[in-house]
Amino acid sequence: MKADELEIREWIAAHRDDMVRDLMDWVRIPSVSRADLCDPEKKAPYGPECRRMLDHALARLSAEGFRTEDHDGYCGSAWYGDAPEELGFAAHLDVVPEGFGWIYAPYEPVEKDGFIIGRGCDDNKSSAIIGLYLMKYLKEHQIRMKKSFRLMMGCAEETGMADFRHYLASGGQVPEFSIIADGGFPVCCAQKGGWNMDISIPAGKDILDFSAGNVRNAIPDRAEMVLNLSCEDALSALKDLEKLEIIPDDRGVRVISHGKGGHAAHPEDSDNAVLVLANALIRSGLAERLDLSGISFIAETFRTPYGDGMGFACKDEISGYLTSNIGVVRFEAGTIRALLDIRYPVSAPIMEMTDAFRAYLSEHKVIVNDLDIEKPFYIDPETPIVKTFQKIYLDVTGDDTAPYSMGGGTYSRVIPNGITFGGGLQAPRPDFLPEGHGSCHGPDEVKHIDTWLRAFEIYLKCILELCA
Ligand SMILES: [Zn+2]
Repeated sequence: MKADELEIREWIAAHRDDMVRDLMDWVRIPSVSRADLCDPEKKAPYGPECRRMLDHALARLSAEGFRTEDHDGYCGSAWYGDAPEELGFAAHLDVVPEGFGWIYAPYEPVEKDGFIIGRGCDDNKSSAIIGLYLMKYLKEHQIRMKKSFRLMMGCAEETGMADFRHYLASGGQVPEFSIIADGGFPVCCAQKGGWNMDISIPAGKDILDFSAGNVRNAIPDRAEMVLNLSCEDALSALKDLEKLEIIPDDRGVRVISHGKGGHAAHPEDSDNAVLVLANALIRSGLAERLDLSGISFIAETFRTPYGDGMGFACKDEISGYLTSNIGVVRFEAGTIRALLDIRYPVSAPIMEMTDAFRAYLSEHKVIVNDLDIEKPFYIDPETPIVKTFQKIYLDVTGDDTAPYSMGGGTYSRVIPNGITFGGGLQAPRPDFLPEGHGSCHGPDEVKHIDTWLRAFEIYLKCILELCA
């Protein structure tokens, strides 16, 4: 091992406990992004906890002697170096709601067997802490910079990235290139585009209630419908079908379906409960006997999660298949209100597709309440900065995986030339947690400390190479 490499490892080892302590401090703030609690006077567009989190982070950075700037509570930045050209490093300080099923307390983090446990300890406060310590390293070593290093921290990544959208729309400037430290290693060179829709489908008069899911980007594992039908009739029609519960209801019968939940970008391992229910009603013959026109529409249009029923199944080499998810369903005044999460490949002709789909919806008397398109992201893997990242990743880890593509969206979709690169490295599974625990949006979110420090080393080497 070279002398400077040894020094870096020793420095990291000497700062391990401080990094863990800082990360735990940050996790104690339950910074769920709440635009509904916006307070413009206090510059808190995402509620008091995000305001407190951003204050805490900026105060910590300025106590270390770095120049900081609060971008009106939407996001914040800190700098090391005076060079006008900058390299960005972006992370988000907001977290997803804690949800249910935690064994540990979500906002009282603990360290156990080399892991930290708590909401946000991985996604994405661990990367913000890496940013802070990268700056500390550069400062302690008085590294002279030909490009300044800029840490950028947002407060609404998990709720649609309005934080940096607002900052950019109001004239904020971002570096020529930025690392988005909110994915896996190595470099993500392509992200599918996002196509979100909010539609109202005529239900049919025998549907009295219908609900499933809470967020657009999750595949619902449970759906419930109340039908204008006796419990006996429902039981005899649906008796042979699996994954259903049939219970009496004041108004008729309540049918509950069970599917398998998951992330909208990965329908391959899941089973959408809305479709389980719709298909059961069709197979039982009830969709013909009763007026359930909305159900027939859903069963046909979303018959696969790849857009086949919508008429635009497609894929490309760079970013893979189009995926579609019906994530939230509510019953509203005789209509089925549905939120769709569609992710389209980089090369798909999105304008033609949305026009065609609008025409199809209008034929079926479906109303479009809202339609929002997020552009896909693509960077040529041969770009010099991508090659530098890949090479350093290979040097540190010995892993020669090529740049990858993903269906999920990070700040890459919003921050120009924001390249998603890390900070997640393949980590062991915490054996003290049951199956289904430990993931970044699930209960008992964990961060594995050793691989976290490894990621720090990769980033530090990239910055020394590009900026020093
Ligand atoms: Zn994240």
